[in-house]
Amino acid sequence: MPDALTLPLTATLVRMRGTDDAPPRCVALAGEIGIAVSCSIYAERPGPCRDFAPYAPLGIGDDACDRARRRHGLSPLALNGVR
Ligand code: SF4
Repeated sequence: MPDALTLPLTATLVRMRGTDDAPPRCVALAGEIGIAVSCSIYAERPGPCRDFAPYAPLGIGDDACDRARRRHGLSPLALNGVR
């Protein structure tokens, strides 16, 4: 992970710049929320990002995904309209 994208949290942990801002926006997020976004470091994204909403690429959200989407005025993900 490039140092320019992170801030130190502890001696051994870092966090992505922007994730502690209000409102939070990770420095690696590209695009416009609600229109089209992507992770600019997707292949090297941190562990917590890999664990978050693992089925979202299939159109299946989860509670954390729904909460994040609600904060931006977006409806929950649904696969073929079924949750
Ligand atoms: S998936 Fe990418 S853009 Fe999203 S929080 Fe993680 S590093 Fe940032």
